[in-house]
Amino acid sequence: MHLIWYVTCFLIGCIPVTWCVNVTSNGQPRVMLIRVVPNTTQQLEFLKTFKQQKHGLRLQLWRHPDVIERHVDIWLSGSSYDAFEKVCIKKKINFEIVHNNIYNEIKKENISMKNIEDFEDYYQRFEEIEGEIKRLSIVFNTSTTLEIIGKSYEGRNIYSLKIHKNASDEKPIIFINCGSHSREWLGIAACQYTMRRILFDQQYDDYIAAMLKDFDVVIVPVLNPDGYVFSHRDRYRLWRKSRSPTPESHCFGVDINRNFDYRWGGGGSSRDPCDEIYCGTRPFSENESLALARYLYKHRRKLKAFMDVHTYGQMWMSPWGYTKMLPRHYVEQRRAMRAIQQAIEKAGKVRYRIGTSSTTLYHTSGDALDWVYGRLGILYTFAIELRPSLRARRGFRHTRLAIAPTGKDLFSGLTTLASVIVSKNNARKKHY
Ligand SMILES: [Zn+2]
Repeated sequence: MHLIWYVTCFLIGCIPVTWCVNVTSNGQPRVMLIRVVPNTTQQLEFLKTFKQQKHGLRLQLWRHPDVIERHVDIWLSGSSYDAFEKVCIKKKINFEIVHNNIYNEIKKENISMKNIEDFEDYYQRFEEIEGEIKRLSIVFNTSTTLEIIGKSYEGRNIYSLKIHKNASDEKPIIFINCGSHSREWLGIAACQYTMRRILFDQQYDDYIAAMLKDFDVVIVPVLNPDGYVFSHRDRYRLWRKSRSPTPESHCFGVDINRNFDYRWGGGGSSRDPCDEIYCGTRPFSENESLALARYLYKHRRKLKAFMDVHTYGQMWMSPWGYTKMLPRHYVEQRRAMRAIQQAIEKAGKVRYRIGTSSTTLYHTSGDALDWVYGRLGILYTFAIELRPSLRARRGFRHTRLAIAPTGKDLFSGLTTLASVIVSKNNARKKHY
């Protein structure tokens, strides 16, 4: 029997060893997804103990216990099922089996099952983020569509995850782009938080339900995977750019957010390949910016809003980046930003500065913000610098404790933006 375990563990290297102990009668390992609903405070508190002490069970919490009558999702090794059932009967906890054996899907998609409990406590590596979005797309297969929108210079997948109520009924899109700048780990983690929150809480949260009634939400979790992987190396934590070669043989990478074809190469960007804000040899020289632009252009008629997520500075900004001139739609953009600022302040007790990007932060040329607004004409286009404020000493190196509160800012901003757009449309309808 031990031999079977070891052979199985060898074959499914993507799954931690602790999972590899249950083999079904046809020789296949068994991985279950269980949904538990705590009905009392005692049950809730008991489920919370699962994270620290597993009670001898081989499991990982996926949706953590938070309040009574909200489900908890648990990945369980089949070998622990009988013991798990006994515990639940003893504690009078209701549960259902969402998937009896999801092993084949995990293996087929090469999904990493590492660190899935720790999404709010830990900056996930690229393969862990990949694992998470694949898991979400399998488990929420009726409300998500996972696409590969391009390949990075080093050949990694650039993913987009669309979240929708109904795949056949396509709605206007709110698009969230994350991780152009690889060192901005907190921005990438905030996007993961938001993605999970929409999917896990859609049945409980009226704001999510209202948003998905009118919009599809598309999230690119990591636009610059090469840079993100590189920033996990010891000496390169602050790497910002892509990883493509440049005309300068000892300098690598282009600032993806200076590589868009709108006012490319102007102030706030650099022609020096060794600079942090190097704009590339030509607009869209980078696979990553081109992949994003192609997707947005293809879906431009459905695109209602665009959010480009960065850290840090605590700012919610509208175009332009290239000039201090106010854009034509600034009154409406400011109205949206004001509502977002108030919503974040109410929920998170922090104040985001609002205004145009060039006046609130600094000049930029060839960035995604100006391209989406200037070329595609999308009114609700914003660049966001999440926590902390510019005064913070830690800058890009935050503790993991910042993940949940920063994710909540992004989530509040997103749902508020959706309601601002809907209220504007309704006002227009009444007028006519
Ligand atoms: Zn950035």
